[in-house]
Amino acid sequence: MAGETAFPAGDLMKGKRGIIMGVANKNSIAWHIAQQLHAQGADLAFTYAGEALGRRVHPLAESIDADLIIECDVTKDASMDAAFAAVKEKWGTIDFLVHAIAYSDKSALEGSFVENTTRQIFKDTMDVSAFSFVDAARRASEIMNPGGSMITLTYLGSERTVPNYNVMGVAKAALEASTRYIAKDLGAKGIRANAISAGPVKTLAAAGISSGKHLFSFNRLAAPLRDDTDPRGVAGAALYLLSDLGLSCTGETHHVDAGFHIVGMPDESALKE
Ligand code: NAP
Repeated sequence: MAGETAFPAGDLMKGKRGIIMGVANKNSIAWHIAQQLHAQGADLAFTYAGEALGRRVHPLAESIDADLIIECDVTKDASMDAAFAAVKEKWGTIDFLVHAIAYSDKSALEGSFVENTTRQIFKDTMDVSAFSFVDAARRASEIMNPGGSMITLTYLGSERTVPNYNVMGVAKAALEASTRYIAKDLGAKGIRANAISAGPVKTLAAAGISSGKHLFSFNRLAAPLRDDTDPRGVAGAALYLLSDLGLSCTGETHHVDAGFHIVGMPDESALKE
């Protein structure tokens, strides 16, 4: 509808401040989430992985009035130290954290999991895609107000095999298990932690997976909703989990994938389309 924002506006996040980790460009899931949180009144800080990305993240972040935009490579302790120190210095405390970060060497995201997963690739994938949430959660919890909330992004490849997802599926399984342990530990501080398991969304990270086109079309044909995953739905789930709408919800992996995860066997008609 003309004049209507794509993201429902309101004040569910008014007075809340938080960190968004993982915007690479306007297609990033983290950017959809950021826009939704902004539309509900949140103040946002952004971290980005390197100088080249910074050039893309700065104008996006500034378009929604953010002025805390910090370089942060999650594989480097000094970089994480500096990023969280900058947030603490500017705001003192935060109310939420969005972790939307993953990486693996492209050579492991195709063909045989057994053949293509080297020791180094396994370690690097786990470090960026799973451990970084544990590390960020610990640092965030030190400055997070009681009632705070954190989320990460995962994918069904953690629970079932998906062609070419390979070692990233193993890292996502670790990420989901980590989310449950984070929720258990931080619950005592009144802090919640959850994961959103999103269906395929066209982003840079998705482009890194070999035969991504098949991933998208099979998901669309087999999912109960017979549609792609709308990133606005992912952003809506993030709003629920990060705001007081999600009170009492912690340690959960919430699927936003047009229902694909419930399907044991797709309809015959779906396979013929
Ligand atoms: P994206 O736009 O490419 O975002 C991934 C982000 O991770 C990028 O900003 C990337 O920066 C960052 N990153 C990688 N290595 C990093 C490091 N060492 N330090 C800091 N940041 C680093 O892709 P996306 O699809 O939105 O991905 C966000 C999250 O959603 C990921 O966890 C992904 O697995 C998950 N997810 C995606 C889908 C999907 O279909 N797209 C579905 C389910 C879950 P660089 O570009 O510099 O590497």
